[in-house]
Amino acid sequence: MLNIRIERTATPKTKPDYSKLGFGKYFTDHMFLMNYSTEKGWHDARIVPYGPIPLDPSAMVFHYAQELFEGLKAYRRADGGIQLFRPDKNIERMNNTCDRLCVPRIDPADALQAIKAVVEADKDWVPYDEGTSLYIRPFIIATDPMLGVHPSHTYIFAIILSPVGSYYEAGINPVKIGIEREYVRCVKGGTGMAKAGGNYAASLIGQKKAEEYGYAQVLWLDGVERKYIDEVGAMNVFFVIDGVVITPELTDGNILPGVTRNSCIALLKKWGVPVEERKLAIDEVIEAHKTGKLNEAFGTGTAAVISPIGELFDEGEKMVINNNEIGPVAKRLYDAITGMQWGKVADDMGWIEKID
Ligand SMILES: *Cc1c(COP(=O)(O)O)cnc(C)c1O
Repeated sequence: MLNIRIERTATPKTKPDYSKLGFGKYFTDHMFLMNYSTEKGWHDARIVPYGPIPLDPSAMVFHYAQELFEGLKAYRRADGGIQLFRPDKNIERMNNTCDRLCVPRIDPADALQAIKAVVEADKDWVPYDEGTSLYIRPFIIATDPMLGVHPSHTYIFAIILSPVGSYYEAGINPVKIGIEREYVRCVKGGTGMAKAGGNYAASLIGQKKAEEYGYAQVLWLDGVERKYIDEVGAMNVFFVIDGVVITPELTDGNILPGVTRNSCIALLKKWGVPVEERKLAIDEVIEAHKTGKLNEAFGTGTAAVISPIGELFDEGEKMVINNNEIGPVAKRLYDAITGMQWGKVADDMGWIEKID
């Protein structure tokens, strides 16, 4: 159990227009902070007014990117209560990322307590409008004022909150994706399975290129053979080929183990829909498209839940998928997961953690 000190703001902000939230533009009145030192371990848990975190210019995070983050949401139910979706999964993944980046772990019960406490402190910021939620961004930064390359001895764990709009204000529109054959997101043995800010820095160039070509996101291929599908943008990816749902396996450590991905697989298994976690070559997808067997493709992640892929672009060739419409598998998963998240569908998986 953490002993969390709470210092409430004397100057609460004016709430934004909840019909125009977008993603990650507004931040609430408070934030959670906790420090780590070798002598004291994780200590000084506190909820304080949202604001700048003073850091020495030599703080290690600025130079060697020893940083990691998580992303989950708090949802407002119709009865006014607030709930989280599988926060234990995010906390488990955060600690796995800690291991990979030589950052000290945080006790899972303490991390959950911190998330709940800061959401509780800013609970009037959890929006009520259809499809909106409060995005929760926990992160850890290395703070040693030291330019030597070595794991830091001091850290800050922070949680900030941002009310976010419905991802699909104008209905679920499939996105166009460009297959990236030049740059890679990660390599075997690297940090692909870790939610590290550094992975994003490395991926920006592919994203920028895709946008220049008029595509929303990048389809990443594996860093070794450039043959197998890894992910799409910052989402996991699923293909439905001849009735079988296929998603890249986690075994090589180059796929981020998404909570949404895991939830989709569990639901498909429960429904008796054939689902395979295995290596999937881009050529297999192209061939399936040629022979009319590529039924659906979609990305999965906390922000959008399910993002149907309407078109794949590869070196001058366009592949339109499912007539550029959301397919039945994607739709069923979307309805089931969002139904549970906003409390409209009974949670028979034990995935909901109520706060209020
Ligand atoms: C966070 C993330 C995902 C999606 O994970 P969820 O837990 O489903 O939100 C997928 N790929 C990458 C690279 C990510 O950072």
